[in-house]
Amino acid sequence: MKILVQKYGGTSLASPQRIQAVAKRVVDAFSKERMPMVVVVSAMGDTTDDLIQLSSQISSTPNLREYDALIATGEMVSAALLSMAIHALGVSAVSLTGTQAGIKTENIHSKAKIVHIDISRLRKELDQGNVVVVTGFQGFNDVQDVVTIGRGGSDTSAVALAAALGAPVCEIYTDVEGIYTTDPRLVKDASKLRDITYDEMLELAALGAKVLHPRSVECAKENGIIIHVRSSFSPNEGTFVKETSTMEAKRPITGATLSEEEAIVSISQIPDTPGVASIIFSHLAQILVNVDMIVQSASENGTTTISFTIHQDELPHAEAGIREVAGLLNAGEVRIDRDVAKVSIVGVGMISKPGIAAKMFDIFASHGVNIKVISTSEIKISCAISRRDGRKILQDIHAQFGLDNLQ
Ligand code: ADP
Ligand code: ASP
Ligand code: MG
Repeated sequence: MKILVQKYGGTSLASPQRIQAVAKRVVDAFSKERMPMVVVVSAMGDTTDDLIQLSSQISSTPNLREYDALIATGEMVSAALLSMAIHALGVSAVSLTGTQAGIKTENIHSKAKIVHIDISRLRKELDQGNVVVVTGFQGFNDVQDVVTIGRGGSDTSAVALAAALGAPVCEIYTDVEGIYTTDPRLVKDASKLRDITYDEMLELAALGAKVLHPRSVECAKENGIIIHVRSSFSPNEGTFVKETSTMEAKRPITGATLSEEEAIVSISQIPDTPGVASIIFSHLAQILVNVDMIVQSASENGTTTISFTIHQDELPHAEAGIREVAGLLNAGEVRIDRDVAKVSIVGVGMISKPGIAAKMFDIFASHGVNIKVISTSEIKISCAISRRDGRKILQDIHAQFGLDNLQ
């Protein structure tokens, strides 16, 4: 079955007027394409932030089942309103929650993965000629409780639905015209990309470019779905995320990111014996802490220091676990540096071009900025630096690598 899957983000649905504008877009596409249509929605504007703030006024460590039950309501409101607005334009529509849409997740509250989608109800509604509006960001677990899938997760809901329904493309409508070489709100000369590979987009998303949820890119890659990121506010074509890119040869690197709320955790005086890294990181994985850059110092007097970066959002639930594992290993002090930003560059072109790392480090040196931690993969280089230097370094990297106004 040919099918159109679209997703609209929070800014695009921030007011009743914007919801009506989205409804108009949906109805236009439905009439023009003459295909069954599924529309995935985020919560209106800052609703999810407001709900999280509300829960923090009740408890700093809320019960996660109830936390999910609360924050999933944002999408329920926008789905019902959008469905009403589509009806008002004379097209039949039905809103479904993640549970009604058959989106089964893991049993982990607040950051579950989608494990399966039972599309029978969706198919029934589509066969009856309804536009189906589905709440993003949520599904249900083994005991039928509502579970959310991580901040920004509506993108993943949309791509997973596209995969389950056999749609070749998933359109993600947002508040910028596509994917840029860096966040266009931080660098005004950022260039819009015509296309980008899954692997590059995965790195950019994981490193902090919040335009796409990382798992949405993973899911698109696994299922060969093209993601078209475009603006809700203009008719222009946006950026295509796909297997290969036509612009690769032209650009030295594809993009740069800045993540301003990082922390470096250092555990000192760890006995330098086989298996300690495994104990530390297995423990962190068990308590669902996402670790990024990792460095281990040279051994001194039979002990070593292991440092790693985590996002500051993770600290509240990670800190006790980190201290516990340090105690378990008879290690010394645990230090947490919160004055950390992470600047990264990404590009498949890096594999064949020597000198990219040297050029990046030169930029830090020319600003007199100290690098706290470095990590690399074949297609990315990340450096942790002091937070106050993040924006100027990002802007200079963007200019020096020729990403401004790239054609
Ligand atoms: P939505 O609510 O539509 O999901 P998000 O706020 O999650 O929107 O994502 C869109 C935002 O992502 C943009 O407003 C932009 O500031 C930010 N962003 C960060 N990096 C990039 C990038 N490389 N290209 C485009 N947007 C980016
Ligand atoms: N509303 C959720 C959030 O703000 C999900 C999303 O927008 O994708 O994180
Ligand atoms: Mg988003």
